[in-house]
Amino acid sequence: MNAYLDNAATTKLSQAAREAMLPMLDELYGNPSSLHSHGQAAARQLQHAREAIARCIGAQPREITFTAGGTEANNQAIISAARLGDKAGKKHIISTQIEHHAVLHCLEMLEKEQGFTLTLLSVDEETGIVRLTDFEAALRDDTCLVTIMMANNEIGSIQPVREIGEICRARGVTFHTDAVQAAGHIPVDVNALNVDMLSLSGHKFHGPKGVGALYCRRGVPLRPLLRGGAQERNRRAGTENMPAIVGMAAALVEEVAHLDETATRIANYRDQLIDGLLKIEKSQLNGCASNRLPGNVNLCFHGIEGEALLLLLDMQGIAASSGSACTSGSLDPSHVLLALGLPHEIAHGSLRLSLSRYTTQAEVDHALRVIPGVVARLREMSPMWEG
Ligand SMILES: *Cc1c(COP(=O)(O)O)cnc(C)c1O
Repeated sequence: MNAYLDNAATTKLSQAAREAMLPMLDELYGNPSSLHSHGQAAARQLQHAREAIARCIGAQPREITFTAGGTEANNQAIISAARLGDKAGKKHIISTQIEHHAVLHCLEMLEKEQGFTLTLLSVDEETGIVRLTDFEAALRDDTCLVTIMMANNEIGSIQPVREIGEICRARGVTFHTDAVQAAGHIPVDVNALNVDMLSLSGHKFHGPKGVGALYCRRGVPLRPLLRGGAQERNRRAGTENMPAIVGMAAALVEEVAHLDETATRIANYRDQLIDGLLKIEKSQLNGCASNRLPGNVNLCFHGIEGEALLLLLDMQGIAASSGSACTSGSLDPSHVLLALGLPHEIAHGSLRLSLSRYTTQAEVDHALRVIPGVVARLREMSPMWEG
């Protein structure tokens, strides 16, 4: 029995995405910038993909820029807003302590190398959600950007993006949200959310890897990161990754069409996993029980190492994660769990299970059967465990 429960790290390619990609790998190989019919056939596919992505998030096609993933979309949004801020003499940026490294490391670069000042908001330790009062208090006259993720990749907490956006709008501050874990999983509408910029990534919703999109509201300037050709209306140089772009669009359309149905089913699986695994003694849920992505489970088991747990689970066919995939392999505990106030030794014993539309009851049952025994075995061997 196998159970792939690491969908926050990446998801399998959907059949719809795969089928949309195949002609782009075969006969539709033209360069969309070419004037001949091969090029124009590709350009039409590019336009269809842009319209489809725009429709899925309530945007206009012209507001979508294709990128090479969520990381690039986040970097472009932040660096563009920072450059414009700098020009206007505004060098303060507000974000949170629990952002993805694609945001945090980009902000740290601006702080260290370009003299920006950061305010990284803490989150409520119970829920993993920022407090609006803290946010409002952090706003300054020289704030040029607010970047706060829509849903967290480790603990699944969903931030009050609409309310934050409303405040930013009233104050005339550019607001970006990293919606990589949200798009295709919970409703995302750029107008309802009051966002100026929003990032998404194909491989987090059953599209291919290495492709993403940045929404940028009409009227909000967007500077390129890369210099070269005039692709993407001068916003992103480089020949478009056509198979990936078309595959991402097909994947998002399909996920959005099944959004409610999928969310209801996998939230039920999520709750079965949380309830079942919390029966293990000295276990705790990380993040909020209610305001949480439908597919996210994150727990700590005292007295064990998350890495050891992952290896033993893998031997039983269960693919899971401890904290973020980018942090595993290093001994630093997750910055997100530390932001929840967990002591290092407890944060080390964390397990994230993340579900998708393809998750089955049989996979959930397998995880519920295997995990308690593996935790018990590790505790028997653990010098940190006193029972
Ligand atoms: C995966 C992820 C990213 C990075 O996206 P890539 O397409 O892998 O570069 C950014 N933010 C969040 C919240 C993510 O989960």
